[in-house]
Amino acid sequence: MPDYPKRRRGGVRRKIPTTGESELIDRYFRRPSRAGDGVVLGIGDDAAIVRMAPGHDLVVATDTLAEGAHFPKDMAARSIGHRCLAVNLSDLAAMGAEPLWASLALSVTVADPRWLRQFAQGFFALARRTGVSLIGGDTIRGPLVVTVTVHGRVRPRRYVTRGGARPGDGIYVSGNPGEAVAGRLSLTSERASRSIGALRRRFLYPEPRLGEGAALAPIASAMIDVSDGLHDDAGKLLAASGCGAELDAGLLPLSRPLLEHAGERAAREYALTGGDDYELLFTVPASRESRLRRAAGRWTCPLTRIGTVTAKPGLRWRLDGRPFTFRDRTYRHFR
Ligand code: ADP
Ligand code: MG
Repeated sequence: MPDYPKRRRGGVRRKIPTTGESELIDRYFRRPSRAGDGVVLGIGDDAAIVRMAPGHDLVVATDTLAEGAHFPKDMAARSIGHRCLAVNLSDLAAMGAEPLWASLALSVTVADPRWLRQFAQGFFALARRTGVSLIGGDTIRGPLVVTVTVHGRVRPRRYVTRGGARPGDGIYVSGNPGEAVAGRLSLTSERASRSIGALRRRFLYPEPRLGEGAALAPIASAMIDVSDGLHDDAGKLLAASGCGAELDAGLLPLSRPLLEHAGERAAREYALTGGDDYELLFTVPASRESRLRRAAGRWTCPLTRIGTVTAKPGLRWRLDGRPFTFRDRTYRHFR
């Protein structure tokens, strides 16, 4: 039996011993293939082979979650399993794409069966619901870091970029931004409130807006998912479009649980700069507004217009008719 030396202090990080590693992969990550999932060869060989249905383009996105940076230490494994896939699916949603396959690179400090089982439960519950097959990955020992790559498809030219917004388009957001960050902050603070469970769920189990994103593909002129904070991500979309915006902070859909928990002022700040929302922020030309209203009538999350695209660059927020400034708490890895 191949046997790797134990990790030496300050030494090189090593793979989990080979036999243990393949058992681990078989036990927790290998699932029977489903009919029609396009997987020609799944987990177990040097690489996976998939077949794209004719008449589609491949869409690929990767996102990493690291303990400490993206989620607090000792967060529930089930939530980490859910989130690592959800944040990637959110990127596909923002392109208007349909998800197909995922690969998973997992770095864990120890191969704890309970942790791995719960992680896999979180991952596969969402994967099943969204039609995603896990086709491969890598497993190493190291600090807790999870990287997922998702593969999806779009019809040629039926995708939505950040760059298509034009002056006069309405600016919209799905869901209730701000809830997730309130939930995240509450994980590491003592402060309790009646709404805390609902807010925590929004952080621990974000729902990727796949149906909404697909419905928006023929309607939105530009789209982005809100991961870093609504203000920051709106800035990215508008910069990519070569435009600016007039926005009304009074129109932000601050939910009742968020208002109850944080009060109006902090709630607004969370919604603007908190991040972790995984909602869709998008622009729609006036000519397609009625189509948007019809499509959104079938959604389970709210839809809110918060502003208008302008030719003049920069984001100008107003509240009660007056210019509105706020503290930017957007998390940045590199300052
Ligand atoms: P190699 O050394 O050739 O890269 P590995 O032993 O790392 O192969 O992986 C064996 C198989 O298990 C491959 O098909 C790989 O994609 C898959 N795999 C490894 N880790 C994971 C994981 N965390 N989730 C899903 N598949 C995995
Ligand atoms: Mg190999």
